[in-house]
Amino acid sequence: MLLDYSSLLVSAGFSTLCVTALFFGAWVSTRSDGFLLTCSIAVAFIVGTLALYRFYFIEPTPARLAMAFAPMLAGLSLLYGAAHQFRRRISPIRPALLGALTLPIALPPAALGYDGIGLGLINLCAGGLLIATAREYWKGRREARIAIAGLCLFYLLVAVSFLLCTLALAIEGNAVLTGPPSNWAEDLNILTVIVAVPGIGAITLALKQARLAQAHKHDAMTDPLTGLLNRRALFDMVEAMAMGSEMAVIVFDLDRFKVVNDTYGHAVGDRVLVHFARALRQHLRKGQLAARLGGEEFALVLSDTGPDTALAHAEAVRASFTKSVQAAKGFTCTVSAGIAFGRTDAGPFEATLNAADQMLYRAKRSGRDRAVVDGLVSGWPESQQALFTQPSSSRP
Ligand code: GH3
Ligand code: MG
Ligand code: MG
Repeated sequence: MLLDYSSLLVSAGFSTLCVTALFFGAWVSTRSDGFLLTCSIAVAFIVGTLALYRFYFIEPTPARLAMAFAPMLAGLSLLYGAAHQFRRRISPIRPALLGALTLPIALPPAALGYDGIGLGLINLCAGGLLIATAREYWKGRREARIAIAGLCLFYLLVAVSFLLCTLALAIEGNAVLTGPPSNWAEDLNILTVIVAVPGIGAITLALKQARLAQAHKHDAMTDPLTGLLNRRALFDMVEAMAMGSEMAVIVFDLDRFKVVNDTYGHAVGDRVLVHFARALRQHLRKGQLAARLGGEEFALVLSDTGPDTALAHAEAVRASFTKSVQAAKGFTCTVSAGIAFGRTDAGPFEATLNAADQMLYRAKRSGRDRAVVDGLVSGWPESQQALFTQPSSSRP
C-alpha cells in the first residue's frame, strides 16, 4: 500500500474531525436543526475511537480494543438517532439508546480477552447501525431524492466495509488476536471511512440547505394566520393547473367584519378568519385550490366545475363557517360569495377573479349573506346567468 495503516488512521481522524466542526458550525449558524448538533456529537465520538485506536496499536490488549471501539458504537448509535431526528423531527435519544444496546452485545467478549470474536462482533454491530441509519434516511427520500440516495450510498459503503472486516476475521478464525488486525478488509474499511465521511458531511449539509430553501418557499407562499395559500401563490398555482379545464372561481368576503373587530376585538377577529379557513379546507377536494387573497377575502378555485356544483360548494362553505363561529364564539358571522367561470388556458386568471369579484359586489349590494353565480363568462344558458342563493340566516 502507498500509505501505511497508521497514516491512513491519522487521515481518517482529521477528515472526521473536520466533519465534526462542519456539523457544529452549521448548527451554531441556525440553531434550528438539532439533528446537526447530534451529528456533530456523533462524529466527535468516532474521532475519539480513531484517537484511542492508536493507543491500542501501541499496546494491543483486548481491554484497549474494547475501550477504543466503545465510543465508535456510541457515535454510530447517535448517528442513527440523528437520522430519526432529521426525518421524523423527534428527539434522537430513544433511537440512540436503542442503537446503544449494541455496546453490551459487542464489547464483553473483547473485554474478557476474546478480542478476535469481540472485534468481529463490533464490526458486525457497526455495519448494522449504519444500515439502519441509511434505511431511516431512505424512508424520508421524498424530501430530496438525489441527495438522500447519495447519503444512503455512502452509509451503505461504510456499512459493507465493516461487514467485510467481520468476514475477514471469520476467515482467519482467531478467537484471540496476536496483534492489531491487518488484512485487506481493514485497509478497505479505513479508505472507505476517509472517502465517505466527508461525503456524508457534505450531503447532510446540502439536505439541511434544501430543507431551509423549502421552508422559505413555503413561508413565501403561505398566509401565516390561516396557513392557506396567499394571493401570489394562488396565481402561480393556477398557472400549473390542467390546461383547458373548466374552472370555477369563488371569491368569499366576510360580512361586516369590521363590526366583528370593533365589537369583540382584533384577536377574536383573527380567530374568526381561522374558522373560515377551516371551513374552506373542510370542503376542499384534490386538485382544488384555496387561498386568502388578503384581509377577510378568500378564494376557491375548482377545476371542471359547472354553476350548480360551484354554487353548492360555496353554500357548503358558507353554512359550515356560520355554524362553527356560532358554536365556538356564540355570535353570528356570515359571508358573501361571488362565482365566475373561465378556462385555465383562456386569458389571464385575473379576469375570472375580477368577474367573481363583480358577483361578490352584487351579493353585497343585494343584502349580503348569499352567493351569486355569474354565467356570463363561460356562456352558460340565460337562465343560469345570475343565480342568487338565499341568505343562510333566513333558512330554517
Ligand atoms: P363588508 O360586508 O362590506 O365586506 O364589510 P366589512 O366590514 O367586512 O368590510 P371592510 O372592508 O369595511 O372591513 C374589512 C375589515 O377587515 C377591516 C379590517 O380591520 C379587517 N381585517 C383585515 N385583515 C384582518 C386581519 O388579519 N385580522 C383581523 N382581525 N381583521 C382584519
Ligand atoms: Mg373586504
Ligand atoms: Mg367584508
